[in-house]
Amino acid sequence: MEYYDQARYQPADADNYEPLLSEKDQTSVDVDSPLPDDLTRDDVTLPSLEEPELARHYVRLSQQNYGVDSGPYPLGSCTMKYNPRFTEDVAAVDDASVHPDRSGDSVQGTLQLQYDLQDYLGRIGGMDAVTLQPPAGAAGEFAGILLAEAYHEANGEGHRDEVVVPDAAHGTNFASAALGGYDVVEIPSGDDGRVDIDALEAALGENTAALMLTNPNTLGLFERNIEQISEMVHDAGGLLYYDGANLNALLGRARPGDMGFDIMHFNVHKTFATPHGGGGPGAGPVGVTEDLAEFLPDPHVRKTESGQYERYTPERSVGKVHGFEGNWLVLVKAFAYIDRLGDDGLSDASAKAVLNANYLAEQVEYDVPLGPFHHEFVASAGDQDAADVAKRMLDYGVHPPTTKWPELVDEALMTEPTEVETKSNLDDLADAFNAVAGEDDETLANAPTRTTARLIDQTTAARNPRLSWHDLD
Ligand SMILES: *Cc1c(COP(=O)(O)O)cnc(C)c1O
Repeated sequence: MEYYDQARYQPADADNYEPLLSEKDQTSVDVDSPLPDDLTRDDVTLPSLEEPELARHYVRLSQQNYGVDSGPYPLGSCTMKYNPRFTEDVAAVDDASVHPDRSGDSVQGTLQLQYDLQDYLGRIGGMDAVTLQPPAGAAGEFAGILLAEAYHEANGEGHRDEVVVPDAAHGTNFASAALGGYDVVEIPSGDDGRVDIDALEAALGENTAALMLTNPNTLGLFERNIEQISEMVHDAGGLLYYDGANLNALLGRARPGDMGFDIMHFNVHKTFATPHGGGGPGAGPVGVTEDLAEFLPDPHVRKTESGQYERYTPERSVGKVHGFEGNWLVLVKAFAYIDRLGDDGLSDASAKAVLNANYLAEQVEYDVPLGPFHHEFVASAGDQDAADVAKRMLDYGVHPPTTKWPELVDEALMTEPTEVETKSNLDDLADAFNAVAGEDDETLANAPTRTTARLIDQTTAARNPRLSWHDLD
């Protein structure tokens, strides 16, 4: 599939090229090694640079990059918010690095933190039990699908082989259900961007294992009929799965468990601190109602009557979905974040996330067809190509929104400013949107012009990455 016209690609600006260390210097270094001669070389060629040169090399590289520490990063659905440093400090204390094979008796503090985080997440989501093991949101979805399967199997309902997914859902929902061996039944959204109740009714039946739903959905819209949807799914004998990627919108205000969801995942790297992007690391704890707790992955952490914390295998566990108790240090950061913010801080975060999204939606001149929004909104680039709009926004020094998804909105610009941005940051972001909205196709097609790397072939970069500088030879 061709996403871009090959002729449009532009090379990196030569003035901005930062040489590799090996291009700056090649010095032959004698090696005096205690290892046997047949395992060592007599000399190696290494760059030999003074400390300032080395420091400046890395600082220059970092300045060519853009991240949540540089400015707003309004990538809708990803919740790219600033990650406070104290969570890094907490995860970096010496005692946090414990070997995962140590006996439970010798790591009581570690197990207590896991137990308390299970408890925090359970209370935030309105769930009875939580596993911390899955290493990402998508992995949480897959674990949730395994739990649904085990539950139906145990109830003599193993014939249920369909998972219903609305068309606005994240691609991982379809993939997780399919990977779990289910037939995916996709249902269209209504004109208002929400679940089409008639389409849902038609899709549900005796083969329904679950409905996977994101609420607010990926258009930033709250599913107002959630109680009716929950009743319909349960009446059909299915389970209701909550994709927690958008939990930032509801934090401390509404709980999936109270809406009728049976299983949910938390993207703790989106909602509760941890820099993410580029594939991780993250964590995707999964919460369930009491009926599903006995199937949770192995091990799980509980508190005994004598006040000890211990790992155990739930009675009918689906087994392991990751090593040990998951991505431990990411979980430490999530714990630190929740503990520091507390109930008031969490509900304040969601209020500001929603306020910021709605303020920005009002400021942008692009058409915003739906609403009212929660933590994100979807504008339409109209006659412009959303991908070109995104590239051009880079020239204004901001990170663009998610583009061309959900497909329900033409040339979608799916925007999530998050709670951390100030009014003046939001105004700058709106200025960038509005400047691009007034530009012609040619300007857009040649953008970006002010960045280190120009219009790159991102499809080839993703499919055929050069992961070592050796590949550049
Ligand atoms: C990010 C996201 C996921 C997948 O989560 P990962 O942690 O990236 O695996 C699933 N659903 C939605 C709506 C998302 O935004």
